[in-house]
Amino acid sequence: MLSLRNLSRAYRTDTVETTALDAIDLDIADGEFVAIMGPSGCGKSTLLNILGLLDSPTSGSYDFAGTEVAGLPEAKLSAIRKRHIGFIFQSFNLVDELSVRENVELALLYHGIPAAERRARVDRVMDKVGIAHRAAHRPSQLSGGQQQRVAVARAVVGEPKLILADEPTGNLDTAHGEEVMRMLQALNGEGATIIMVTHSPAHADYASRVVDMLDGRVLIERRQAA
Ligand code: ADP
Ligand code: ADP
Repeated sequence: MLSLRNLSRAYRTDTVETTALDAIDLDIADGEFVAIMGPSGCGKSTLLNILGLLDSPTSGSYDFAGTEVAGLPEAKLSAIRKRHIGFIFQSFNLVDELSVRENVELALLYHGIPAAERRARVDRVMDKVGIAHRAAHRPSQLSGGQQQRVAVARAVVGEPKLILADEPTGNLDTAHGEEVMRMLQALNGEGATIIMVTHSPAHADYASRVVDMLDGRVLIERRQAA
């Protein structure tokens, strides 16, 4: 599915250079569920942003599903991102001017799917995450747990190859956090590749592989029975 080779990302200001990622090598196969852990500032968000084509490496290569994407122009990155990658953020990132249904449907607009089929797919996925009865509400009218379920629906409605989750349970209480983890587990069971940043060892236990980072490098990787 994806492969990073000698990949680095540096941030430069007038006076300081920060190496956020330092010569990372990482391979992730189709169908894996990978948890990325490590202390604040070790490069987790930078790595996830690069994996999600939201940011580009300073050097090194990134093969995404057979395409070398490091150095591609933003228009191309954006096209791949919309078609093949679903994002789930800690802060949900829903559009409050739109209804729940419209938020989910937004993710399908670039897929060239006829309106009737789009509606059917949106209905199916809202049903699947248990949010169908809130379709006409605005995100701000929902609880945090419900908002994250909408975000999960939006991330998966386009049937992306890859789902990236940046601390998806960070703003949720324990019960709602577990609920989101079980949803990710079910999606992984259906074949989705998932890469998740988390601070929670209990939530990392849902993954089939844990990547521990320190100072922009992969410190240790372990595979585990999910
Ligand atoms: P984590 O997600 O593990 O907390 P980040 O990827 O956010 O780590 O940050 C890695 C390093 O890169 C940190 O030292 C951080 O200060 C630095 N960094 C992140 N984003 C920027 C930026 N936009 N400008 C300058 N430095 C940054
Ligand atoms: P935070 O670290 O504040 O919790 P998020 O996890 O919400 O940030 O977002 C991680 C990164 O993804 C940020 O750099 C943000 O700019 C970017 N991002 C967030 N939402 C979107 C979006 N809908 N589309 C594109 N990029 C986004």
